[in-house]
Amino acid sequence: MSTTAPISTPNKPASVTQPGPAAIKTKAHNPSAEAIRDKGWWKAHQWLVLRRLSQLSILALFLLGPLAGVWIVKGNLSSSLTLGVLPLTDPFLLAQVVAARHWPETAALLGAGIVIAFYALVGGRVFCSWVCPVNLVTDGASWLRRRFNITTGRAPKRELRFWILGAVLVMSAATGMVVWEAVNPVSLMHRALIFGGVVAWGGVAAVFVFDLLVAPRGWCGHVCPMGAAYHLIGKGSLLRVSARHSSQCNDCADCYAVCPEPHIIPIPLKGKSGALPVIKTADCTNCGRCIDVCSKNVFVFTHRFDTRRD
Ligand code: SF4
Ligand code: SF4
Repeated sequence: MSTTAPISTPNKPASVTQPGPAAIKTKAHNPSAEAIRDKGWWKAHQWLVLRRLSQLSILALFLLGPLAGVWIVKGNLSSSLTLGVLPLTDPFLLAQVVAARHWPETAALLGAGIVIAFYALVGGRVFCSWVCPVNLVTDGASWLRRRFNITTGRAPKRELRFWILGAVLVMSAATGMVVWEAVNPVSLMHRALIFGGVVAWGGVAAVFVFDLLVAPRGWCGHVCPMGAAYHLIGKGSLLRVSARHSSQCNDCADCYAVCPEPHIIPIPLKGKSGALPVIKTADCTNCGRCIDVCSKNVFVFTHRFDTRRD
């Protein structure tokens, strides 16, 4: 495994249209600095702050029951019941249950239907960036990589997550068990926060070290089969980010530095071969971080049929 060629560095994504000379930044460059200077702190962080509020509020709702006896939500992100009436089921969990030849209860089917409908509309990987607590861990690793200019490691191919998804379903069918739940870092993190334990915290720490030293932005976009399932669900989603004001771009590359999937930016941003400005790929997590850090206000949230560019 190479230790010198990451799939992307903060300022120079590999195998994509390269930003211009202005993209050459000093070590540990802060990609928010220009946006803070030109737009103010709030505008340079608003989607990040809202995302953290969303992640922490959802986590708090789940923890209130076991830690404080306030049962607004029962269960975890794989399967839950809110206020005793709203079932929500992770579709990947449901697929494993079916593969294991257990017929799910009606509430579980209904819960999966609600979840699929929601993420099919707003983007499947919105789960990754706005809901999943593991995103706090992987974003933390990514921040440390930028902060300390760590360039070691190489992420595996993006297709790996789909192979793992398929393998999990095959293993569930072969064993009659829901195999991913035993190692799912999302469930392990819940367990770690409620019960502690070496295994649970060890699983979370392993994801952190993997993203920090082994594979930059490796877990969520390259390995996690849960993320892969939400990727498939959100392929035709309506909510999208657009590089509508691309004529303002000054090639600073701050958007590449913060994007968890920087390979998706160049074509909509540069409009090569008449490409539309909307980022339609399901790899986009709709995190909004590119909107935050762009001092030129190039990016906006819009819908997938919005072709405007200026
Ligand atoms: S889109 Fe904005 S953040 Fe990205 S390179 Fe252009 S000016 Fe910089
Ligand atoms: S393109 Fe923007 S919204 Fe999409 S993943 Fe990258 S930073 Fe987030």
